[in-house]
Formats: sequence, structure tokens, C-alpha cells
Amino acid sequence: MNDDYRLDTRLVHAGEPSPRICGAVSAPIFQTSTYETGDEQRYEDVRYHRLNNSPNHRILAGKLASIEETDDAVVTGSGMAAISSALFSCLSAGDHLLVQRGLYGGTWSFISEDLTALGITFTVIDGAAPDTWAAAVTPSTRALYMEAITNPLLAIGELAAAASFAREHGLVSLIDATFASPVNLQPARLGFDLIIHSATKYLNGHSDLVAGAVAGRAAPMARVLKTLNHHGGCLSPHGCFLLYRSLKTLGLRVRAQNRAAEAMAQVLAAHPAVARVAYPGLPADPSHERAKRWFTGFGGMVSFELEGGATAARRLVSALRLAIFAPSLGGTETLITVPALTTHLALSPEERAAQGISDGLTRISAGIEDPRDLCADLQRGLDTLNVG
Ligand SMILES: *Cc1c(COP(=O)(O)O)cnc(C)c1O
Repeated sequence: MNDDYRLDTRLVHAGEPSPRICGAVSAPIFQTSTYETGDEQRYEDVRYHRLNNSPNHRILAGKLASIEETDDAVVTGSGMAAISSALFSCLSAGDHLLVQRGLYGGTWSFISEDLTALGITFTVIDGAAPDTWAAAVTPSTRALYMEAITNPLLAIGELAAAASFAREHGLVSLIDATFASPVNLQPARLGFDLIIHSATKYLNGHSDLVAGAVAGRAAPMARVLKTLNHHGGCLSPHGCFLLYRSLKTLGLRVRAQNRAAEAMAQVLAAHPAVARVAYPGLPADPSHERAKRWFTGFGGMVSFELEGGATAARRLVSALRLAIFAPSLGGTETLITVPALTTHLALSPEERAAQGISDGLTRISAGIEDPRDLCADLQRGLDTLNVG
């Protein structure tokens, strides 16, 4: 497979077994836990499903490494298994980590509770203020952790500066690129060592699988694979199949989601019931310049605040006919969520406010429906709020 092919071609053809297994055009599912012993020389060559070396794992690893433009990749049983394996692969007791403010909730809990309990400390940095980062580095700092687009405020940090800062200070640079997907952002080109995805979201994209992925250069990836093999967070054969099947349409889906999100962001920005819209594709958005520099698409997520706060958010959610009121993102169906009522419910209103999350903040994950239908439904839902 020639790596000069464009992304959509690689999504279909990269990593495919050659020759095809029994001529199968779609790679078969290897529903087996173990394999006959051959001439294995090392433990990791023993063919066993948990060691992430089944044909289904290797096909996905090849496809993902090709689309991320990295040496290697692995798939995992969830996004959190990808994140924990990646972080455990480069941190041990006594080490220190720099993390961007506004992390995904599960990642934040893992770092602030589990890593801390193991003697790994961290400092939160402002992802958009590189001149403040050096002051946070200590002699035990080992890694820098960023997210491509933060949740739910959809801010983009100084990503290129983060990767070069990490290199200058001898740190492993990690980026959770879930919200961007490889269609909109290529973090390896910016210099990141390890690229992480919750494949539950765009990579699988059909709201029917929980999975994760890590891609990167050969040396750090060998450590990630070893950690994953020890911790056991492997993706099942059927999970591998679903992800494999989905990856072939990633480009088509994400570009449709980009278009739908952009169209809905414009409806929101023009409506009097809306106080504020966050979408990196809007020229007035604080992240727009950074998005234009590095992203090839502005993403399928839009967040906004309604003038009527949480009451209006509840009313909008029940007025909409197409968007389903559910957390998660990246699937073919448009979803709407109110973080204060769902993902951030455990926080007090004060804690939410400190993170910039008002009770009326609402987040849409665009699906692949016709943008005209999505916009008409959104316009009608907003009109029911009767502002002014
Ligand atoms: C959903 C998500 C995760 C966690 O992924 P799971 O597949 O649910 O384990 C991590 N990071 C981001 C940005 C996410 O959106």
C-alpha cells in the first residue's frame, strides 16, 4: 500500500491483508482467543488475542498508522483504555505531568485521582498561553498532555507550540484528538509523539461501539503496546470488525458532519434566543485563527448558551424532533446534550462556573442528516423560546 495515496484511499485500502484472506474483500472476523504455536521468539509474538496481535488487530493498526502518518498504532477496548495505557507507558511514581485546562471528564478523574494515588503529580496549564508553560516544568516533568478541541467549550490551544515545547524540554507529547478526528487534524505533522482517540466517537461513528486507539512513533508505541498487553484493555474481535468497517467511511461521515455543524452554528449565531456560540469555524470564534492554521475542517461539534439559561435549554431539547437528547458524540445521528444536566451533573454550579460551563450551555454533535432538515428543526426549536 503506497502511503502517497490520499486519506480517503488509505481509509479503504491501507492495512488490508495481502494476499486477501481466502480472497475476502472485507477482512474476516477472527473469533478465536488463541492461535497455534509457530516459531515465536519473544513473549509478544505469542499469538493470543489479549496481546493485540490478532489479524483483526494488525489490520486496524496498519490502517490507523497510515491515516495518522505514524510508525505504528494500536486499538483498545475504550478511549479510556487508550488514555490510561498511553499515560502509564510514559509515567511512573515520582513523575510529574503537564495537562491542559478543560480536559475530558474521564481523563481528568483518571489523572487527578488514580495517577495522584500512585504518586504521579500534575500541573494544569493554559493551553492557549505557551509563555506560562516553562514555569510549570519541574525536574521530574516527563509528559505534556493536550486535547485537540476541548469539551464542551470547543477551544483550541497552541498545539504546534505544545509539541515543540515538549521536544525542547525532553517531554513526551500526547494529544487526545478525538474531537478533531484524523480527517480534520493530523497531529503527527505538528510533532506530537502519541495521538489518542476515543474511537467510540468519530472513528467508529455509529454510536454502536466503545473503543479507543493510540498512534505514534515506533519507540513510544512499543511502550504503549507493552502497557496495554499488561493492563489487558484489548478490543474484542467483533469490536475490531465494527471499527474496521466504519473506518472506510470516516472521510465521508466527518465531512458531512463538518458541513452540518457549520450550518447549525450559523443558525445559532443569527438567532436572538442565543447568547453565545462556540464553533471554531465561525470567523468571530476565539479559536478560529488557530483552527484555520492546522485544521482541514472545523469539526462536527457546536456549543452555545441560550439567553434563557437552563430552563430554555430544557425547552429546546424537548422541542427538537431530530436531535436526540443523549451524551457522547460523533455518530451518524445528531445528538444534543446539556453538560450541567448530564456529564457535569456531579459538579456544583460554582465548580461548573469555574470551568466556564454555565447551566444553560448546550452542545450539539452533528450527525449526517441533511443539514437543511437539521437547520429547519433547530430554527423551529429556537423560535419556540420566544425571546424578548
Ligand atoms: C469519550 C471521550 C473519551 C473517553 O472515551 P471512551 O471511549 O468513552 O472510553 C476520551 N476523550 C474524549 C475527548 C472523549 O470525548
